[in-house]
Amino acid sequence: MPLSSRQLHIHVSAQDRPGILAETLTFIVQAGCNVVDIKQFVFNGLLNLSILLDDCDPSRVLPLREALSVYAEKMDFKATIYPWEMATRPDAPYAHRSVVTLLCGAMPSVGFQEITQIFAELDINILRIEQLDSGDVHVLEFVIGTRKAHSSEEVLNALVKFKENYGVDIAVQEETYFRRNKRLIVLDADMTFLQCEVIDELGKLAGVGEEMSRITHQAMSGEIDFESALRKRVGLLKGLSVESLHQLSNSLPLTPGAESLVKILKHLGYKIALVSGGFQFFIDKICDTYGLDYGIANQLKIESGKVSGELEGPIIDAEGKERSLVFLAEKEGFSLRQVVAVGDGANDIKMLARAGLGIAFNAKPIVQRQAQASINHSDLRLILYFLGISGGDLQELDELVGGG
Ligand SMILES: [Mg+2]
Repeated sequence: MPLSSRQLHIHVSAQDRPGILAETLTFIVQAGCNVVDIKQFVFNGLLNLSILLDDCDPSRVLPLREALSVYAEKMDFKATIYPWEMATRPDAPYAHRSVVTLLCGAMPSVGFQEITQIFAELDINILRIEQLDSGDVHVLEFVIGTRKAHSSEEVLNALVKFKENYGVDIAVQEETYFRRNKRLIVLDADMTFLQCEVIDELGKLAGVGEEMSRITHQAMSGEIDFESALRKRVGLLKGLSVESLHQLSNSLPLTPGAESLVKILKHLGYKIALVSGGFQFFIDKICDTYGLDYGIANQLKIESGKVSGELEGPIIDAEGKERSLVFLAEKEGFSLRQVVAVGDGANDIKMLARAGLGIAFNAKPIVQRQAQASINHSDLRLILYFLGISGGDLQELDELVGGG
């Protein structure tokens, strides 16, 4: 191979041990070349090392190659020198990058074949693959790149069937410095942070459980207008005592992983908010109990110790949730790209779309179709993988914050 170029690429493959890079660099220094870039990874004990060089004097390249190959043979590794053509540098043209995170059980080979085939058909190049966890849940991160700009929607749409076939949860996020630098998480309460719809529980207390659940289901599926559904349901609660609200607030079931998620995110310096289409009475109680930073919800009007059947103050519907998310990000001085939003209902769609990472959590189909990430398991801790946190990180964090 002619090596007349002043730019070279040295590739080393070896059984990994300390010192291989230092030894290789000794020859590079002797040849007077300039190191432009170094990349390496070790997999199953095998080192793959690439060094890009420029300012190489063509007359010194051949001696470099000979000296390096004699040494490599003696030390039982393989060193190859290629010309480095900048125009054909493999990752240079893939300027538009995303991270596709997969959460799944053990993935069969055919699953890997299928997803990589889908990427290939879309002219998507895989730049890096990393396994974040291989315990109860397998988590894989694919950093993908395209020459032309692509959107999360395009990638997700192509993966719809794959997702269904293998029961995989997927997030597609733009690969920028904001991805690992989120600062605020805004969670929906009912069926997201909590494993119930509080208003349905209130309905049961008021003896109108069935009617209440029916309207709630229609509202959360986007079949009927949120505000009129809310007012109708609040009307059904007329006469319920504040005492019964207190009792209910002490027995609301949290979604598995909620408490651990809060502890870990607080440890990492996140601000945590609940933004709910439910009621401030309950949201305040949860925020106090778990030390959350913000809680925004609808205000039940109470008269003489009883629910009046009306609301007061602004309505937190889909627009209200979106407004609250923007307000909190601005108040804290964070970019919207540093915000994670999590929700399950049709009234969450707008706030999920506004956030840097919007996660549909055990969500209605209408929500899942529009969100860039989804989780279909009842464990809020899974969110952490979408933030780039690995299984090893989680173990350390669990020890620090006290329990998973
Ligand atoms: Mg909800």
